[in-house]
Amino acid sequence: MFSSSSLSSLKKMTLLFPRAASGSPLKAVQNTVMRYKSIALSSTTTSFPTDHTGKNDEPYLTPSFLDGQFIKSESQQWFDIHDPTTNHVVSKVPQSTPEELDAAIASANAAFQTWRETSVIKRQGIAFKFVQLLKENMDRLASVIVLEQGKTFVDAQGDVTRGLQVAEAACNITNDLKGETLEVSTDMETKMIREPLGVVASICPFNFPAMVPLWSLPLILVTGNTAVLKPSERVPGAAMIICELAAKAGVPAGVLNVVHGKHDTVNKILEDPRIKAVTFVGGDKAGKYIYEKGTSLGKRVQANLGAKNHLVVLPDAHKQQFINAINGAAFGAAGQRCMAISVLVTVGKTREWVEDIVKDAQKLVTGSGFDKKSDLGPLINPESVTRAEEIIAHSVKEGAKVELDGRGFKPEDARFANGNFLAPTILTGVKPGMRAYDEEIFAPVLSVINVDTIDEAIELINANRYGNGVSLFTASGGSAQYFTKRIDCGQVGINVPIPVPLPMFSFTGSRGSFLGDLNFYGKSGITFLTKPKTITAAWKSNLIDEELLKPSTAFPIHH
Ligand code: NAD
Repeated sequence: MFSSSSLSSLKKMTLLFPRAASGSPLKAVQNTVMRYKSIALSSTTTSFPTDHTGKNDEPYLTPSFLDGQFIKSESQQWFDIHDPTTNHVVSKVPQSTPEELDAAIASANAAFQTWRETSVIKRQGIAFKFVQLLKENMDRLASVIVLEQGKTFVDAQGDVTRGLQVAEAACNITNDLKGETLEVSTDMETKMIREPLGVVASICPFNFPAMVPLWSLPLILVTGNTAVLKPSERVPGAAMIICELAAKAGVPAGVLNVVHGKHDTVNKILEDPRIKAVTFVGGDKAGKYIYEKGTSLGKRVQANLGAKNHLVVLPDAHKQQFINAINGAAFGAAGQRCMAISVLVTVGKTREWVEDIVKDAQKLVTGSGFDKKSDLGPLINPESVTRAEEIIAHSVKEGAKVELDGRGFKPEDARFANGNFLAPTILTGVKPGMRAYDEEIFAPVLSVINVDTIDEAIELINANRYGNGVSLFTASGGSAQYFTKRIDCGQVGINVPIPVPLPMFSFTGSRGSFLGDLNFYGKSGITFLTKPKTITAAWKSNLIDEELLKPSTAFPIHH
């Protein structure tokens, strides 16, 4: 119990630290944000697109989210977002102005003080509500993903679901954030707690418009940090819906802000000292730059980069199970997954199975993501198609053989004649040194390499610069053990083609596919987003302790 004198000294202390007073950073942000025009999202839980737009339909404007408000950017520079299936402009996204970027960071910084003091049980309650809202808005999110990114509706639902699973795991924060305590000496306890870092920025790629923002956002928030999110400028729609749902779930103004743009936005995030950590997912070039610059400026950075994932098939594998798996993993999402299988390594006589893979791949339907019959949609932009076709042509010149050629594919529906389509393509006779092997193509192109032994397969894969995922198909537990122990990749699948772990574990890409020390989500995600503090306190039950009454200048040791 507090005595009346200790209570009055506490009150005095409170007055020393007033919150949101006029002239405070928070008030200044609120005044700035009030100046902007507000702007609504183009969809609601029950009203969202279910088909592609026409050429002359008015594109919607992507808002920014500053201090709890959806605002219309005052930027003079807006980028067009094209529907990859039609190449019609469906939306526009701004390059956030320097003032808007500053307001977003200032808002997150000001909100941090109160948010970190919000009890973990309240933050958990918000996370539960957020999960519920994500479920209720699953189809709305999937539809905007189909429109802006191009993947099929069912695949877009998977995109949302894999992110939702991270949000569900974040609800366990009351267990995950428990500290450690020990009575280190009589009546003296040390406890170790983990505290939030402050403002954390999240920079996202185009290929998983919902999943990747959700890889970091739920954990950033439940651990007591505040967030500045930069979605990919090519697919910002899903992130904006996620933001609306977070606010509806009870995330207070300022705790989550969304800004847009390209390099200028990234540079501001990296250079602003109020941002303490950066989570990045994307390609090698941006990732290396962000990791090097961010860490050199004293920030924590975790960066998931590109990949080249191999699937090895042994002669004892179940043939049809393997064929279904390889076609799904190589061509699903039009190969635009960081865990897509882009190299098949056939061991021994399984080289003869390629013919059957081709037969089944030919049956896959390439088309609009809104068409239930489609198995894969278009690539993100025309440049991606051109680049993939160049890599195929170059590798053919170097000796590769095209077993299935998806170049020049046009869907039957004339509305999609200008879409960025490349149908499933299979190359055999591929070797290291060819572009098809050395580069991440990020398209529905499967390169096949033949080897004679499992050791040759392991040597090939371990020499590749990437280490995201790998898969082995076999009926032998012994071969699986042998392979698992010798392979140097972060995520290993045995008879599982895309072994992305559920978020009670972490996304464990390694070598050239990851920069940093602590991976996304799971225990290491929480460690990344928090810093440890130890508190050692003595509350003596025997106050008349002769030893304590004597002054001592010796270095304290515990007894
Ligand atoms: P990208 O690197 O082009 O863009 C990612 C983000 O970085 C975007 O927000 C973009 O605005 C920004 N950016 C791009 N270039 C930049 C630069 N030069 N400087 C600063 N910022 C820059 O990636 P993408 O094309 O959107 O996504 C595809 C890539 O992401 C593929 O390489 C894929 O393998 C990778 N990816 C990896 C994982 C993983 O977990 N390893 C997951 C998804 C995607």
